[in-house]
Amino acid sequence: MKGEAMTIPATFIGHGSPMNTLETNRFTNMWSEFGQSIERPRAILAISAHWYINATAVTSQANPRIIHDFYGFPQELSQFEYPVAGSPELAKQVAGLVQPTWVGLDDDSWGIDHGTWSVLAHAFPRADVPVVQLAIDASKPLDYHLDLGSKLAPLMDDGVWIMASGNVVHNLRAIDWHNADGGFDWAQRFDDDARQLVLERPSELGDLLQSDDWRLAVPTPDHFLPLAYVAGIAAATGKKTDVLIDGCTMGSLSMTSYGVGASSAV
Ligand code: ZN
Repeated sequence: MKGEAMTIPATFIGHGSPMNTLETNRFTNMWSEFGQSIERPRAILAISAHWYINATAVTSQANPRIIHDFYGFPQELSQFEYPVAGSPELAKQVAGLVQPTWVGLDDDSWGIDHGTWSVLAHAFPRADVPVVQLAIDASKPLDYHLDLGSKLAPLMDDGVWIMASGNVVHNLRAIDWHNADGGFDWAQRFDDDARQLVLERPSELGDLLQSDDWRLAVPTPDHFLPLAYVAGIAAATGKKTDVLIDGCTMGSLSMTSYGVGASSAV
């Protein structure tokens, strides 16, 4: 549908447990309502916490494999399939957009992981919108990811849903199984601080590195960094950012999600 202006909100989704793929709860309801509320994207660019490698790369397969990158969950989840097409064309477009940053086209090492398909199982259950994943380069500082996000912003106006998927607070060692609907004080405080920056000063997301709660909230940066892409997009476009849903679960996971340009689209 080239030529038709169609703007799709860019989102950061707190994905939480892989079990959200199979469950129905207030978070998964939001994901499915979001999928129904936006204009149908021509493709999805997913930035998943679970492809965290020492390189900047995009999946370029026409038919990406579905990766079950976890263990200890029910068989139904390890056999879950999300038979979606890739988009070599979008992969090349991403590589062109972010120049001079170099992006590798990956046609054999990765595919679509559960950071992506746990959300898409609800947002696009028919798996009928092509998906490309962008790796998170673990060797780069936070500012690199903010900058890369800002370079991807034009895709919003080109029919692509940029779907970053992680968790603002993600500390699996501190999980409290008896606290299904709440967060520790430090988790809630960090989530609140992140919200203030994302909504008001997204280009300064890196201020969180100075937070006393950083080490507990972000013991490893993989789940946090997808947020930098959406903050970079918010900073570059100046579009309004909204909280799509918020809240902590199991003490040390924040499920807070953001949409850039969402309020003007829905
Ligand atoms: Zn995860």
